[in-house]
Parts: sequence; C-alpha cells; structure tokens
Amino acid sequence: MSERKKKFILKGILGDYSQSSSETLFHCPFCNHHKKKLSINLSKNAWKCWVCDTSGKKIFSLIRRFGDQKDISEWLKLDKTIKIDNFDQRILEMFSNKGEKKVALELPNDYLFLGRKDLSNSYAAINYLKRRGIGPQEILKYKIGFCPYGEYENRIIIPSFDEQGDCNFFIARTYYDDSYKYKNPPIAKSKMVFNELLINFEKPVIIVEGVFDAIRAGNNAIPLLGSTLSKKSLLRKRVVENNTVVYLALDADAVKKQNQIIKNLLKDNIKIFVIDTKGYEDIAEMPKSVFEDRKNNATEVNSDFFLINEKLKGNIYEIRAHRRHPHQKPKIPQGISGSFWTALQNA
Ligand SMILES: [Zn+2]
Repeated sequence: MSERKKKFILKGILGDYSQSSSETLFHCPFCNHHKKKLSINLSKNAWKCWVCDTSGKKIFSLIRRFGDQKDISEWLKLDKTIKIDNFDQRILEMFSNKGEKKVALELPNDYLFLGRKDLSNSYAAINYLKRRGIGPQEILKYKIGFCPYGEYENRIIIPSFDEQGDCNFFIARTYYDDSYKYKNPPIAKSKMVFNELLINFEKPVIIVEGVFDAIRAGNNAIPLLGSTLSKKSLLRKRVVENNTVVYLALDADAVKKQNQIIKNLLKDNIKIFVIDTKGYEDIAEMPKSVFEDRKNNATEVNSDFFLINEKLKGNIYEIRAHRRHPHQKPKIPQGISGSFWTALQNA
C-alpha cells in the first residue's frame, strides 16, 4: 500500500507523526511549533499547518522543499498523479551530474603569494589592499597574491578553489588604476562557484556581486562576478540541490537584476532574504559592523506577495518582513577547511 510507504518517506523528512482520522500530523518545518500541527491528508494530497497557515495542494511540494534527491525520486515512483512538469524535470536533470565538468586552471606564472615574508616589491599591492580594508588575515584566508610583471602585471590576484582545492578561477584587479580594472581568465563564470572550497551549502549563503564584496561579507559569501545568476549556472544548481537559504546583497543600483534572481530562486522553492545595501556603492565599501547589522535585519521575501506584485506591477520590488524564530537564526560556519590549507602549502 503506497500510503504506508509515503508516510515512511515523510517520517524520514519531517520526523515522527501521529494519526488522527484521515490526517497525519507532523511537526511543521515552517513555524517549528512544538506540537504536531502540520496536517497532511494523503488521500486528498494536500497539507496545511494549523498554526502558521502555510499550506499546499500537493504533498510533493513538501518533499521537494525538505527532502533530498532520494526522497524526491522515491516519492515520484509512488505518486503517479504527479505530472512531471518542466520544473521537476529540470530538478531531476540537475541532480544527475550530467554536464558537470571540472574546470581546471593554473594561477598566473608570475603569481606571488602576498603572505610571503621575502617580498620586496609588494608595497603597492599591500597598500592597495589596506585601503580596501584587507589585511594579513584575509590575505591568508583567500590566498591573495599579486603579479609584479607578466601578463597580469601590477594586478592583485584573488584565486578561487573548487571543492577539491584545485584552482578554477581567479580575478586579477589592477592596483594602480591605470588600466582596465579586471582582467579575468577565459573561463565561463557560470561553470564554477567562486571559492566553492570555502562554501558550505548546507548553511545559509550570502550572494554578492564582487569578490571584494564577498571578502567583506565574510564566511559563506559567494560573488556572482556580476549581477546575474544564470539558470544553468553551477551556483544555482548547488543552491537547489542543497535547498540552501540565500541572503541576497547586490548593489543598491541592481534592483532589477536582483528581482530577476529572486523570481528564479522562488520558482526553485528557495528561501530568500534580502540585505539592504542602500547608501553604499557596494558591500566592499560598507563597514563590517554595518553589514553584520543589516544581515541580521535582512527581510525575508514572501513568495506569494512577491510573485503577485511582479505580475501586477512588472518589476516593482516589494517584500514583506517575516521574522524567523530566534532558534532558527542562520548560523554561518566558522573556520576554514583543512584541504584549503593543504592546497596552500602545496602551491
Ligand atoms: Zn506551521
């Protein structure tokens, strides 16, 4: 009987349940009420929380949001009523690792790590970083270097490492401002996640525009290297795979592009918070304490409200505040993974 199997999958995702006539009651993952107030009606294929009123017409939406890849495919096997729409098809394709190719890249030949003690020509580079609020701690953590000559002459190099600790990108920013600002390697940005090695997608991530913004934002911050999140990007795939909570902190002038990202992530059932960046050109210009404060006061995007407004008013941006439970406060991981340090030593 598939109902028993369905309950078994739901139990794996939502924990113990109790049965009351046709309703199966679970703890609600939306409001975390201490009593089992999330009512799931398997025969009607609907669910609702009696406390926070969150509800849905398909149980599959809960599976998709809170379950893992295995739960999703098991559920799809049991529930023949689900017409696999484009979205689910895309999700399933995403979960298969097809097309995920490793990007391999060498750091520039002339790259010198700025943490070295024997450098005599690094004054301008160090000084530039200092002006941007970047000191020894960040230089060590992000393995920041520079090129005194060669193809990337007079540029700060900030490398990016993939999950295995291999270089997959770097940005090369001039520190004299006498040339174009950035000279980046010919790698498609959408094919990699900048410094994926340092990112834990099981914890909330902060999405920003530039690498310097990410450094200011601190742990678990990812730069888009622009202000768009491509549908086919590895970053989007990672976020959907892990059902990652996303904090968006794009520059204040990128409202339209930020809305586009919100729209796409909402379609993927991702929980989104928006960090207010008004009054500053970008996050990198924001004092750390201001950023922390604004992050703590970030506004959750209410999906119904947002999508309805999008439809009614085109791109007008409106969000409604929704506080999470205090115990639900996102925790940003501390520290750096060991393999990063191995990569550092081997470089
Ligand atoms: Zn609830």
